[in-house]
Amino acid sequence: MAQDIVEEYNHQSTFTYSSKIEDEIRNGAVEKPKGYRVSWHHNPDVERYHFGQLHPMKVWRLTLTKSLIMGYQMHNAMDLYSSRPAYKEEIARFHKEDYVEFLSVATPKNLIEMYPELAQSTGFSSSVYGVGDDCPIFDGLFEYCSFYAGASIDAASKLVNQQSDIALNWTGGLHHAKKGEASGFCYVNDIVLAIIELLAYHPRVLYIDIDVHHGDGVESAFWSTDRVFCVSFHKYDKEVFFPGTGPLDSTGPHHPDNPGRNHTINVPLNDGITDADYAYLFDTVIGAVTRNYDPSAIVLQCGADSLGHDRLGCFNLNIKGHGHCVQYCTDYCTKFKKPLLVLGGGGYTPRNVARAWAHETSITIGAANKIDPDLPEDMPYREHFRREGMTLFPNLGGWKGQNLNTRADIDKIVRSVHEQMRYIRGAPSVQMNYIPKEVNQWREEAEKEHQARRMEREERMEERDGAGGLLALKSRRRELEKNGLFAGNMGNMKTSEFMTGPISG
Ligand SMILES: [Zn+2]
Repeated sequence: MAQDIVEEYNHQSTFTYSSKIEDEIRNGAVEKPKGYRVSWHHNPDVERYHFGQLHPMKVWRLTLTKSLIMGYQMHNAMDLYSSRPAYKEEIARFHKEDYVEFLSVATPKNLIEMYPELAQSTGFSSSVYGVGDDCPIFDGLFEYCSFYAGASIDAASKLVNQQSDIALNWTGGLHHAKKGEASGFCYVNDIVLAIIELLAYHPRVLYIDIDVHHGDGVESAFWSTDRVFCVSFHKYDKEVFFPGTGPLDSTGPHHPDNPGRNHTINVPLNDGITDADYAYLFDTVIGAVTRNYDPSAIVLQCGADSLGHDRLGCFNLNIKGHGHCVQYCTDYCTKFKKPLLVLGGGGYTPRNVARAWAHETSITIGAANKIDPDLPEDMPYREHFRREGMTLFPNLGGWKGQNLNTRADIDKIVRSVHEQMRYIRGAPSVQMNYIPKEVNQWREEAEKEHQARRMEREERMEERDGAGGLLALKSRRRELEKNGLFAGNMGNMKTSEFMTGPISG
């Protein structure tokens, strides 16, 4: 009799246990990483904007990325932050005030009134702050810029405050924007703003750019300092490939007294580079720089237009080949306890951008080997991945046929980098920037305003959702108790906020 009961009990228990495992496998079973914290900075409002029907930049890729990350339940392994928009004054820490002012007032309607010369077709860019076909003025442009820039600044400040060890903002990484000019689909350079934030506390920042295009905006911003070391891997062709800069011999200013001398590395590549060649170059170059420069923080721009099959790209990289760079930086930063800021960038085949950034998120949380390569069954927009099959790792290599990077080209790059490293010895000059008090004050105000808006949104949800609203009310109360209404904290984001996106009206 007793045995029967035991057997019955075991049967029940086995059944429950195995279905729990099945459920966990289906949901990715991702847990918070051990020994370090990862934060994800995102504001769903950034997904609302459109560059125009024919423009290759599709903000939609951010929605797909989020859908994959959450479909795999990876948000459970990270601290989620709803970022607030960056203040004009913060943006002006790098950008010229007249340019910031222009961005904040220009609309498709008033643009021609302000600049009648733009009525004629301008081509890719114009003398009016770089505005043109590449960087159009669309409705809500400044809000869009403020959202992605705010997320990068918040991410950097979480790293500085040691509330996070690896911070992700897939909406950022807009590396072409210049001090007073939009360029290459980029208006506000969130990377420069984030690095400025890091420089207040970190003596040496290493910036790494794996977008298929040269990271020219960031390079020029920090050209004359030894406190930021810029390394860009990109397709280089002076004549035909945007932006036409970043040759091997461009290593910083020439003047012997300029501290920025030798603090730039450009890795110019040709069409069709493979995973193996790219990984070899990345490991060799970044290995040499980290050994010699000893950065105190790393910023990695993960432009996904370096993947095979990108609408604007020309490399043969697979999702894992691209992710290799994120793995390298994650391993380095967790081993040596240095903060890592991971940003998005270019990427013009949205479903593959989403695959890459979801995979790279899994790398940062140490879950790359735990998640199922088959895409989650119950995720929004799953159908959009059908073309390559429902896998996280479609074959994107071999697309460009031949790899035009010869062994001799690669050896030449490696020799040049090793030669340059002879000049990078010992700690560079450390002069800490003073942060003006007003900047922190603006930030506090921005955070308060953002918190107030979130509360308003939640109140609307409560009115709308009935019983669900009660839950929302409870969680909001908990949050208020935790943070204090006027503590000026960035709100730790709730899942519902990620999923539902903005409520209009
Ligand atoms: Zn690019």
